[in-house]
Amino acid sequence: MAYQADLGNGQKIYLENRGTQTYVTLASSSSGQQQSSTGIETGTWTQPPQLTQTPSGVNVEVFTQDGSRFIQVQGSSISVSIQSPGSDRGEVLPLRQTSNAPTLPPIEPMQPMQPMKMGDMEMNLNSMEMRMGNMEMRMGKSTPNRSFCPQCGAKIEKSDRFCSACGYSLS
Ligand SMILES: [Zn+2]
Repeated sequence: MAYQADLGNGQKIYLENRGTQTYVTLASSSSGQQQSSTGIETGTWTQPPQLTQTPSGVNVEVFTQDGSRFIQVQGSSISVSIQSPGSDRGEVLPLRQTSNAPTLPPIEPMQPMQPMKMGDMEMNLNSMEMRMGNMEMRMGKSTPNRSFCPQCGAKIEKSDRFCSACGYSLS
């Protein structure tokens, strides 16, 4: 479900509801492909949005289960509020239902971080481990727990070679 309207100044606006997001796409018809898309969390539309011309731009009223959301478009900046911009409502612009809304940039899932390596410093953000020279830091479930002596259970430092309580060899 997508709607488009001509803003009259060489700009077109596309409104599309995907899930609970309203996508506002501004496309300039004079400069061809130039367009910007913004996804705004509004909730699912219950009826087509209403577009009104205001002195500074356009105002989009989106109707959802939780009430109206007002999206203000001024030039290329888009802001949203739950407050009506006031009684100073402008002229209603006709919205056309369209099936060919411009393709929105795909939302890519976050890629897992690749381990980083800089000189002798190595950092792996997936398992939170860091190596600098001969110093090693690790935070993760697979980390062997060496903070207690395996023989007597006394607390030991990672750098200890022998347990200070029972003398057990830790290396
Ligand atoms: Zn011990």
